[in-house]
Amino acid sequence: MTAALFDLSDRIALITGSSQGIGYTLARGLSAAGAKVILNARNQEKLEAAAVRLRSEGATVYTASFDVTDQRAVASGIAEIESSVGELDILVNNAGIQRRMPLEDFPAETWEELMRTNLDSVFFVGQAVARQMIPRKRGKIINICSVQSELGRPSIAPYTASKGAVKMLTKGMAIDWGKHNIQVNGLGPGYFKTELTEALVKDEDFTAWLVGRTPSGRWGDVDELIGAAIFLASPASSFVNGHVLYVDGGVTATL
Ligand code: NAP
Repeated sequence: MTAALFDLSDRIALITGSSQGIGYTLARGLSAAGAKVILNARNQEKLEAAAVRLRSEGATVYTASFDVTDQRAVASGIAEIESSVGELDILVNNAGIQRRMPLEDFPAETWEELMRTNLDSVFFVGQAVARQMIPRKRGKIINICSVQSELGRPSIAPYTASKGAVKMLTKGMAIDWGKHNIQVNGLGPGYFKTELTEALVKDEDFTAWLVGRTPSGRWGDVDELIGAAIFLASPASSFVNGHVLYVDGGVTATL
């Protein structure tokens, strides 16, 4: 019975921004729980290489290369997945970028790029997928938030604004789509070693500060996000809706 709660056999899952980093790791994790996964990113070469890597571990993997900031490309990408792979059961809105700069110097074009990638994409992909899920009366949507959905840091105000908005969009989606048996939740990673955080990992002062600031006393390993993702994608979370699950070593619990 407990195994069935977390079983994703034959579920079809799209993970945006999954040619590397957290998205790739979550695709690997959902696949290990039985799901067929669809990897997405813009760079096709990197995407195919990631798919080959995952297939070599025995996963059933498809690829769908589209830009999540382009609403038309999203609509045709989702339609193509539904007709060629099958009905989507799980969506993980993961694609995201970081741009660090003092707010007074932050160019409007960079603000625009960041908001389109981190926030608009969640609306575009979430809406396109929910339109398929609603008539079927089932679905799971996981929006990748961040500890920055709650807390700020110098030089990343726009990122913080985008992730705070993703948290609230998650609640809005849960409210509108809960009656259709769709659960929409957020997963809020703390600090994990990925390409996105490479500069911070190398920065000894930052690492010393972070380790001191984190109750668990270390950086997170991306594999530590898998359990939470399987939970939010599986029958185990059938009455969990509009929640943000922080996987952050306790960072959001402390000043
Ligand atoms: P990453 O290593 O930089 O990977 C980002 C992925 O997204 C890549 O596959 C990239 O491929 C894809 N992508 C970027 N823009 C895209 C677009 N417009 N359309 C489609 N795909 C796009 O990032 P990460 O560290 O794994 O972060 C993933 C998510 O977790 C983000 O939402 C981030 O904010 C969040 N997060 C990360 C951390 C952390 O510690 N790393 C902490 C909290 C939250 P292409 O460039 O080829 O498109």
